[in-house]
Order: sequence, then structure tokens, then C-alpha cells
Amino acid sequence: MREFFWERYSLGELNHKEWEALCDGCGQCCLKRWVKNDEVTVFSVACELLDIDTARCLDYANRLKKVPSCHDLTPETVPEYAAWLPQTCAYRRLHKGKSLPSWHPLLTGDRSRMRKKGIKVSTYAVPSGSVSRRQKARYVIARFPLSQLQTTKPKARRSARARNNA
Ligand code: SF4
Repeated sequence: MREFFWERYSLGELNHKEWEALCDGCGQCCLKRWVKNDEVTVFSVACELLDIDTARCLDYANRLKKVPSCHDLTPETVPEYAAWLPQTCAYRRLHKGKSLPSWHPLLTGDRSRMRKKGIKVSTYAVPSGSVSRRQKARYVIARFPLSQLQTTKPKARRSARARNNA
């Protein structure tokens, strides 16, 4: 990886390793989302393929086939999906011209600060099978207007996952 690549190159100029390294492995893009009445609701309920403890996708290679609402995040699709990603996500931040958060593993060298801050979903997400439709309201963690999305994806319930996070 090139030194300070996140400051020196655009997303489209990154090589595969650099692109992958931007993902902090938080798993937030693998939380269920729901779009209704021009409003996006985010739940603390994990996608069925998310291993909550590790915040890794259990079948990254086949995720798009198995979970049609999952998105493929690439330099080309970041503008389309940026609003689906959490504000802490490096792809969203760099796309918007912001810097990496101070706790990002690329800056700190490990995930300890990130863990302390509770960025990883492992500390609060629940498995999708454990929550019934009626109970879901108890697990709402964010709501925002659909208009906040640059490109709407009304059927999508969760946003992009960049890789099988470490
Ligand atoms: S792509 Fe997903 S897991 Fe990776 S940093 Fe962004 S929100 Fe977190």
C-alpha cells in the first residue's frame, strides 16, 4: 500500500489492497434498513449473513445472490450509495472530501480505539432471526428522510459492504 494513500489519491485511483484497507470492519452497512413513507429507518438488526461477533459477512462471495438488497460497493457506486453508509464510513467520508476518523485502523495501527468507541456493531446488533416483525420498532437506531439519499433505492434494506472485513 502506498504511504498515506487515503490523502493522496481519489477512491478511483486506489489499488485493490488500498481499497480494502479503507473498510474499518464496523459492519454498520450490514444492518437492516427499511424505506417507507419517504423515510429510511435503520435497525440494530443484522443482515442474515452477518456474523455479529466478527462483523464479517459469512458468504461474501455469494452475498449479492443470497441477499438481493445487498449492494456492491465500488469506486463507481460510492456516489450512489454514500448516503446509505454511516457517517463514520471511510468510503463515504473520502467521497465527501473528509478525512478518516481519528480512530480509523489505518491511522492507529489497530482496532482498539475503534472498539472502545463502540463503532463495531458487535456490541449492539442482534441476529435477524431473533426479532419478529412486531418487535422491530424496538430496534430502531436511526431515521432520516429518503430525500437525503442522492439516488433512492426503495427496495434496499441494507447498504453496501465493501469486503469481508477483518
Ligand atoms: S463499508 Fe461497511 S463495514 Fe466497511 S467501513 Fe463502511 S460501513 Fe463499515
